[in-house]
Amino acid sequence: MKAFTWIEPEDLAAAMSAGAQEGALFKAGGVDVGDRLKEHLDEPATLVNIRRLRELDFVRSEGGMLKLGPLVTLATLASDARIREQARALADAAAAAATPQIRNAATLGGNLAQRPRCWYFRREDFRCRRKGGSECFAIDGQNEMHAVFDNDLCAIVHPSATGTALTALGASLLLRGPSGERAVPVEDFFVRPQVDVTRENVLRPGELIVEVRVPAGRRSGYVKLMEKQSFDWPLAEAAVALGDDPRVVLGAAAPIPWRARAAEALLRGKRVDDALAAQAAEAALQGVKPLQHNGYKVPILKTAVRRALLAAGGAA
Ligand SMILES: Cc1cc2nc3c(=O)[nH]c(=O)nc-3n(C[C@H](O)[C@H](O)[C@H](O)COP(=O)(O)OP(=O)(O)OC[C@H]3O[C@@H](n4cnc5c(N)ncnc54)[C@H](O)[C@@H]3O)c2cc1C
Repeated sequence: MKAFTWIEPEDLAAAMSAGAQEGALFKAGGVDVGDRLKEHLDEPATLVNIRRLRELDFVRSEGGMLKLGPLVTLATLASDARIREQARALADAAAAAATPQIRNAATLGGNLAQRPRCWYFRREDFRCRRKGGSECFAIDGQNEMHAVFDNDLCAIVHPSATGTALTALGASLLLRGPSGERAVPVEDFFVRPQVDVTRENVLRPGELIVEVRVPAGRRSGYVKLMEKQSFDWPLAEAAVALGDDPRVVLGAAAPIPWRARAAEALLRGKRVDDALAAQAAEAALQGVKPLQHNGYKVPILKTAVRRALLAAGGAA
């Protein structure tokens, strides 16, 4: 591992100015950053440790919104009564991610900005398209864990469970960087390969997620299906939110949390029952394009959608 300077900023202002320096990388819980350093994916000149910035660690309920600091851990997201009551899909997504130890360290901001787990991307000996090369090795290679939608250029799946849930909930992010502050809907935070195959989100150099805003009180559900019941990444995920603007979002399915718009259209104005949930699950997989080894995901994704809808229940 290449040597780097460790910076322990006193406050957000100091973190922002350290993060604006060439070669700086922010570290929150360090779960993903630690792996990336060991895998030689990143060789920062400085690591800016934001983990102890108390001003980024909060849960507030204000004006029909839950306002969450990016340093809230997955363990807190899973257990905080306000989050569980007001944004159940988010609480369930956090509760199902990784392991108890990881959830105690991993933060919301880091979960959203983590990099993909594609085994070709993570291995330094593969210079894939996402790392500036000319090829996606997964498209014709070992692609059983890869995307079934939007997989023409790069077949990663976005790894963030909270991203899937927050997209369903219609949340937005407040970003702060060297050129000021901007609010971005979560679904516009993620970047499709056709827009820029080398990045997963719109964060600019030195920019931090400083707040996550979640509309409170929507009926929502999240389901994750995996090979083993703990310590595992999803084979399929679905998050849904009901109400005037029903949303159905697939995870472990595409390079971004994938909105299933045909399913959303079917749900509008209707009460969810078993039959409608099954119909919406079929519609959610319209246009699916599995690769050679991941066709098994299609029925599993349908099951995840159906179960998430039934978990959310009631009128759509
Ligand atoms: C065995 C295992 C299983 C896992 N299973 C799952 C799973 O099922 N579902 C799932 O969602 N995740 C899973 N994870 C991933 C884990 O949840 C993430 O690695 C973790 O959430 C990252 O958070 P962190 O705080 O440690 O981020 P860090 O590692 O500190 O940072 C990750 C990235 O985010 C950036 N960053 C951090 N905070 C901010 C911020 N506020 N603003 C802008 N950028 C920021 C950093 O610069 C870095 O690029 C798993 C991980 C492991 C090791």
